[in-house]
Amino acid sequence: MHIHNYINGHLTPAQSGNYLDNYDPSTGNVYSHIPDSDAADVQAAVEAAEKAFPAWSTCGLQERYRILHRIADLIQEQVEELAQAESRDSGKAISTSRTVDIPRAQANFRFFATAILHFSSESHHIEGQAINFTLRQPIGVVGCISPWNLPLYLFTWKIAPALAAGNCVVAKPSELTPMTAFLLSKICMEAGLPAGVLNIVHGLGPKAGQAIVEHPKIKAISFTGGTATGRILARTAAPMFKKLSLELGGKNPNLIFADCNFEEAVSTTVRSSFANNGQICLCGSRVYIERPLYEKFRNELVRRVRQLKVGDPFNDDTNMGALVSKQHKEKVMGYLSLAKEEGGAILCGGESVELPGGLSGGYYLSPAVVEGLPNTCRTNQEEIFGPVVTLQPFDTEEEAIAMANGVEYGLASTIWTQDISRASRVAERIQAGIVWVNCWLLRDLRTPFGGVKNSGVGREGGTEALRFFTEAKNVCIKYS
Ligand code: NAD
Repeated sequence: MHIHNYINGHLTPAQSGNYLDNYDPSTGNVYSHIPDSDAADVQAAVEAAEKAFPAWSTCGLQERYRILHRIADLIQEQVEELAQAESRDSGKAISTSRTVDIPRAQANFRFFATAILHFSSESHHIEGQAINFTLRQPIGVVGCISPWNLPLYLFTWKIAPALAAGNCVVAKPSELTPMTAFLLSKICMEAGLPAGVLNIVHGLGPKAGQAIVEHPKIKAISFTGGTATGRILARTAAPMFKKLSLELGGKNPNLIFADCNFEEAVSTTVRSSFANNGQICLCGSRVYIERPLYEKFRNELVRRVRQLKVGDPFNDDTNMGALVSKQHKEKVMGYLSLAKEEGGAILCGGESVELPGGLSGGYYLSPAVVEGLPNTCRTNQEEIFGPVVTLQPFDTEEEAIAMANGVEYGLASTIWTQDISRASRVAERIQAGIVWVNCWLLRDLRTPFGGVKNSGVGREGGTEALRFFTEAKNVCIKYS
């Protein structure tokens, strides 16, 4: 099966005619081929987007609302087909694709279709002299580049606000998980999105992705991916003064105080550690537990993690499917070896899981809980982005905050306590863009989303995204 680019309203191969293999992580077999696009394909996409921009940016909010809403409807109608495709491409459990990934892709379109109708700009009055009003105008052609962990979910999280704000888009999904982006091209055609408004170019990051970032006509880039890649993007885009939104890696802390609601804290920590195989940027990977609770919490966590079912992504009762690629599984296992070298004890999991029959070549790994490591070791400092968490005890609030903040990342955190004063105090001092108190991944699409430190620059979500995808122009009118 061949995936195609979506350029100027048509499904086309890469101009070079070259393809890349696309693997099914559940079996380890190649099951489709992706266009190996390069600068020539990006050029064609930019030309199509430029041509479409005047009409799309002036067609009116109601028209953009109507088409984006239609796309949301079609995603909803095709939820099962899209969920199957997402699990085939990424190895994730079908229950996750069905209940998280695809519903959220639908919600992204619906949310921003509506949000643009409510978006307003500012006005500043100079008493007796003049009135200023701010126009928020679409930028033009913008680039959206997304990772493999939540493929359609994150792809649409960028595309939907960009389109709603009146921009035309050149987008690239991860080369590891291109399938649902391809299916989205078909949905956009069916929904009547005008040709060139959205262009999807498939291929490798350093080739097709880099060509998007380097293109002088692409004035803004919204990127989600690794911190190292973000650095390359920033280096490339800065001399061209492009607007940049960088949503990067994380090493998120969970702070469990002894007065927490034990049941909720432990069950949510299982989820926040191992949902989507730990391959969510918001997953907590460092669990800090107040010493009086440490042993009880650790024992219960390990007991429940042992019950998680690693298996065929297409079984309804599978909790954890395959990791996304052979290389990624090797990377995660490398970190488990490192954890042992650094003196850690693996309390459960961390073993390659061999499944029978056609699944024997798949990339399965049992979820691992590690203890006994210092906060400063590499296992506790570097992003693993897999089914591995470490546990550490703490004695004081001060110590917990220092350990939580003692990494170069700052994306998300959870705090578990019944003491609202402490929760507020600690939330204020945690270096992160998102803090959840007594919950995790409770998302409201209106809230600012993003990280601090090496977890990124800028915010997405709600008004923040619409502001990112528009240029502000102040108009000052003097009274006569
Ligand atoms: P990655 O950085 O390898 O790739 C992300 C995307 O960038 C892919 O589409 C890739 O093809 C492209 N790319 C690679 N090199 C490029 C270049 N030179 N120029 C332009 N594009 C390039 O990341 P990944 O492995 O796909 O995703 C995992 C990472 O994403 C993790 O670090 C995770 O924390 C992060 N992530 C962050 C968030 C967030 O919201 N902060 C969300 C999800 C994932």
